[in-house]
Amino acid sequence: MENIYDYTREELEKIVEDLGEKKFKATQIYNWLYKKKAKSFDEMTDLKKDFINTLKEKFIIGSIKIDKKEEDKDVNKYLFKLHDGEYIEAVLMHHDYGLSICVSSEIGCNMGCKFCESGRRKKVRNLEPGEIVEQILLVEDDVKQRISHVVVMGIGEPFDNYDNIIKFIKIINDPKGLEIGIRHITVSTCGLVFKIDSFARDAGGANLAISLHAANDELRSSLMPINKVYKINDIMNAVKRYIDKTGRRVTFEYIMLDSVNDSLEDAEDLSKLLKGMNCYVNLIPYNETENIGYKRSNMFKIMKFYDILKKNNINVTIRREFGSKISAACGQLRSKKEDK
Ligand code: SAH
Repeated sequence: MENIYDYTREELEKIVEDLGEKKFKATQIYNWLYKKKAKSFDEMTDLKKDFINTLKEKFIIGSIKIDKKEEDKDVNKYLFKLHDGEYIEAVLMHHDYGLSICVSSEIGCNMGCKFCESGRRKKVRNLEPGEIVEQILLVEDDVKQRISHVVVMGIGEPFDNYDNIIKFIKIINDPKGLEIGIRHITVSTCGLVFKIDSFARDAGGANLAISLHAANDELRSSLMPINKVYKINDIMNAVKRYIDKTGRRVTFEYIMLDSVNDSLEDAEDLSKLLKGMNCYVNLIPYNETENIGYKRSNMFKIMKFYDILKKNNINVTIRREFGSKISAACGQLRSKKEDK
């Protein structure tokens, strides 16, 4: 059986045509799945009985379920169980502009960043597009509210599951589907350079965020093994090409690790690196986890770092903190499950 959430509308049109139906039936199905949130084919009353039976033989509607939920005042964290017994996580954040969700893209991750909980476990497999879409649907269902913003910053390296991420974006952005605005979708990568070029071509204007975390190669390579393959300079050149092609502003994420990458010199180096680029920096107070030794920079240091970037005319924000009380650092909830 196949999961119907795996398909873009274009793919579904082809499938229904192959089943001998008119292609507009795909739009009807999309309408039932994403607008009316149908959970069974029997609800799709404007389709013929025979066709409903064919669909039932071929497809399931969804394959993941909520296993556990932790709540704080402005954040919910979800652990999902997948059809093969694996677990992934998503985090829902309540902003003043609406609800935003951080979804996972893979089970485990091969990037091995030293500070990251998710990277402690190698990739088991990619998530299918539907398994990523369902994280949104199940959470919307749980809170009975529409989610307006999506970031792909949970477990996994999205550019290491590139084709499924592009399908995922198409599915949730579809005007006949969840209709999440393309400018409200952000994909974060540790810097798989050749995929940055593909993303400029394929993503339809979704936002790009780069996990930089260091302004020189020596430090970055010690934190992020991927930097031994793609150097900071390679990333910068790819980002410049991306900006030239799309005209979009790029976000650089920079986690603040105490006495590792938070000195005044680091701030000056970062400013030099980004000078004149159409970008902004998001300073992220590190979420400490019990399995990893890194500490969070204190607020005083973070503010000093921020001031230097500002002085150098770099756009910069400090990420508002969500859920440090409820194991919101990516991968923590799943790790806890495993340690039991
Ligand atoms: N692999 C992708 C997306 C997942 S990680 C990437 O590297 O961008 C999402 C972001 O969270 C990255 O910037 C990552 O470096 C950061 N991150 C990982 N562990 C963290 C922690 N404990 N506290 C704060 N940020 C963390």
